[in-house]
Amino acid sequence: MPDYMIEFAKVNKWYGNHFHVLRDIDLQVRKGERIVICGPSGSGKSTLIRCINRLEAHQQGKLTVDGLELSDDVKVLHEVRRKVGMVFQQFNLFPHLTVLENLTLAPIQVNKLSKAEAEERAMTQLRRVQIAEQAHKYPLQLSGGQQQRVAIARTLCLTPQVLLFDEPTSALDPEMIKEVLDVMTELAEQGITMLCVTHEMGFAKSVADRVIFMDAGQIVEENNPHDFFNRPRNERTQAFLAKIL
Ligand code: ADP
Ligand code: MG
Repeated sequence: MPDYMIEFAKVNKWYGNHFHVLRDIDLQVRKGERIVICGPSGSGKSTLIRCINRLEAHQQGKLTVDGLELSDDVKVLHEVRRKVGMVFQQFNLFPHLTVLENLTLAPIQVNKLSKAEAEERAMTQLRRVQIAEQAHKYPLQLSGGQQQRVAIARTLCLTPQVLLFDEPTSALDPEMIKEVLDVMTELAEQGITMLCVTHEMGFAKSVADRVIFMDAGQIVEENNPHDFFNRPRNERTQAFLAKIL
C-alpha cells in the first residue's frame, strides 16, 4: 500500500444546509509530493486545504492525514495539527511582538520548549528563509515579502510534515513575490509534503509534481505540470489557462 500523507475519499462539504462547496473530492498525496492547486475564485480551493487541518470540517467522506482520520476527536485533531503547518495570504503576525517573539511564542507555550531552545530553533528557521538579521524588528518594520518569509519560518518552527499554502504571494507587491517563491522552492527541494494554492504558474511548472484544477467544488483535472499546461483536457481548464497565461 502506498504511503499517503493525505487522503481524501469522496469528501463532501456544505456551508450551511444548501451550499455544496466540496463535491466528491478524491485526492491522494504521497509523502514528499508537491501539489499546486489552481482554479477560479470561489471554486473551493481554500476550503479544500482548510479541511486538512480542520479549520473547516467536512460532513461526508473520509479524510486522513498520515493515517489519522479527521473527526470531532480532539486528540486526533491536536496530533494532525502538529503535523500540518499553514501559511496564509495575510501573514497574521502579531504586530506587538518582535519577529523572534512571534516565532518562539507557540513553541514555548504549546510545545513547552525552553526560551533558549525556542530561540535557537527560531534563528535556525530565520536563517533558512534568509532573514535572520531582522530577528529583533517588529513585523510592520519589514516589507510584505519579508513578513511572509517570517510567517513561513514561524510555521517551520513547529516542525510540520506537511505545509499548506493559501495564496501566499497574492497580497504582495510584484517585486516581492519572487523572494517568497524562492523560499518555497527551496522548501520543496528539501522533501516536505506541500500543497500550494497559487496562481503563480511559473512556480507550478518548476516545482509541482502535480497540478490540480478546481472549479465549482470539484477537482476537474489533474496532471503533471508539463501535460497540464501543454495539453489541458477539460474545457474549463482550457478557459482558465487562457485567461491567466
Ligand atoms: P477559493 O479559495 O477557491 O476562492 P473558497 O474555498 O474560499 O474558494 O470558497 C468557496 C465558496 O464557498 C465561495 O463561494 C465562498 O463564498 C464560499 N464560502 C467560503 N467560506 C464560507 C463560509 N465560511 N461560509 C459560507 N460560505 C463560504
Ligand atoms: Mg481562497
